[in-house]
Amino acid sequence: MLNRAITNKYGFSFHLRRFVHSNDKSLDELSTFSLKNSHTHDVSVGDSSSVLSDSDIDKINNLAFCDYTSAPKEANTKEGTLLDEKLANVKNLFGADPENRAFVNYKLPQGLKNPYIDIQLNQLKRKRLSVTQLCTTQNWCELRNFYDFYSQNLSSQLLDLKFQIQKGKKIHKSLEDETHPELNQYNSFVQDFLPLTNLAMDIDSDMNTLLDNWCSSISRLISLFTSGGGHSREIICHGFINIQNGKLVRDLTKDGNTSEESVIISGIIDHLTFRNKRNHQVQKRTTGLDREDQSWDSILAKLLSDLPTLKSNNEIVISDIKTRSVPKMPSIESVVQSSKLQTMYYKYFLSHLSQDMTQTYHSFLINAQRRGLDVDAPIDSTKILTFILTNPLFANDMDHLLDGKPIHFAPFDNDTKKPSTFDMTAFNNLLDQGSTSFTIPTEQEEDDLEPTKCISLQDYKRFYTKWKTPITLKYFAARLSQIYYIVGNLVSNDLMIEYYYHNDNFHNTIFPYDPVKLEKHAHDVAMVWFGHRDMNPIEPVQKKFNLYCKYCDYKHVCSWKNKNELKLADLGKELQKIILDSNQHNLSS
Ligand code: SF4
Repeated sequence: MLNRAITNKYGFSFHLRRFVHSNDKSLDELSTFSLKNSHTHDVSVGDSSSVLSDSDIDKINNLAFCDYTSAPKEANTKEGTLLDEKLANVKNLFGADPENRAFVNYKLPQGLKNPYIDIQLNQLKRKRLSVTQLCTTQNWCELRNFYDFYSQNLSSQLLDLKFQIQKGKKIHKSLEDETHPELNQYNSFVQDFLPLTNLAMDIDSDMNTLLDNWCSSISRLISLFTSGGGHSREIICHGFINIQNGKLVRDLTKDGNTSEESVIISGIIDHLTFRNKRNHQVQKRTTGLDREDQSWDSILAKLLSDLPTLKSNNEIVISDIKTRSVPKMPSIESVVQSSKLQTMYYKYFLSHLSQDMTQTYHSFLINAQRRGLDVDAPIDSTKILTFILTNPLFANDMDHLLDGKPIHFAPFDNDTKKPSTFDMTAFNNLLDQGSTSFTIPTEQEEDDLEPTKCISLQDYKRFYTKWKTPITLKYFAARLSQIYYIVGNLVSNDLMIEYYYHNDNFHNTIFPYDPVKLEKHAHDVAMVWFGHRDMNPIEPVQKKFNLYCKYCDYKHVCSWKNKNELKLADLGKELQKIILDSNQHNLSS
């Protein structure tokens, strides 16, 4: 019985005697257990001649993967099937631990390069990392997170099922709709407008997706000072991290702007609040900004000239929103720390994007180029038309470019590498095709009663011509660099996490920015993502195994947990024996 070979439900063949440690010589090596951050994680497994005690047999037989007589709890459910697939995938990628063949290896296998290349470049075809990925790396057990990252697709499906991620996303969406209703309206307008006019546009192309993000971030950040009531949501930001030394890049020109030297870290800030510095009241509107006849150009010029006054009176607080399935704060400290670090990255990125407008301009362009986009290519004219029709501030700005006027941003105005033509004459044909009136969303103001208005394509006839200044990504990068300069200069050192249960903001945590902690974290996670160190499992103490492994999908296949728990059990027996011997000695003396 004890020598019988068993194949567990995850496909590992093993011999029960492998897990017997009663006479384990490696008890002498107990110092291994205190090395929390050991990069080798070596744990010796006892030799196969050891003998099973009754309690060992019980223990092994109670492990779920050994329960080959009864079906696992989740079997025949979608969750069970996904979990099986995920474990099989991880087993396939990581292989068996050579010292503990029934369990999954906890070191990066030889065949794989490093998590960044394996996961981001090869699996996801994404030349960047996200703030969320960096922060979740250590929010629980790093080993568990990398097992999950390596099976992205299955892991996210499982997460959706188990933790109702969709519910959390809905809460984020409803907050976003409340603050920026124009985005939904824009999307529904595009859906109706394109088929009606027979206009073609690849809505989901990488270029158009990036443009939507860039354009909406400019609008949303401007609305922080105008129509947004002091709030702005879902704002993109980015920075770079050095692949070799794991430092956050301060100067792209010095620290390397090639994809061999640095990797983009992109993020989406959940919530910005523009408030009075002294009384912390939300600042609903910036004085001096008129509502009539404005363009992005005039608003940005005004904000730039007012920046010193704004800086002394106001600040912008960055928040991350966490949705919870119960109205309680997370109890695990590493989870709270990970949320705090997330907002620290946003603070670093916004501050960094506000240091020098020219550098920020190039930073956005490098970001686009790393995505494989041509920053000098003219933008789809249909895309520009949809922006013009739905955003009067943008339309006014376009009037300048149409006539070849400068936008008052030197790196763009002086750039000679521009496409020769930007031709919108084709839209004249639309005017001969029946109805040219459409219902479009309006920029929302507090006292607006109507969310939509009717416009006629005739009113925009002046744009259907050959433009003197072609529209490329460079134009948007120029506007982004100006608004990020303003916003970044106002960012507060106070950061916030907003906890939501359903739609109820039941708690806010405010804490200070800690650049030292951030740099340390960035370096530590960069080292594992870029393959300079192994993944760190949890510290091998029973308390942590009980706390963390209990909820881990890999608990029945994880060699780290298995080896160390058996070691700890043996250690317990040894201690018990020492205490018993000592008691007996005391009694007899
Ligand atoms: S079982 Fe424990 S040690 Fe292993 S991956 Fe899961 S949480 Fe980490």
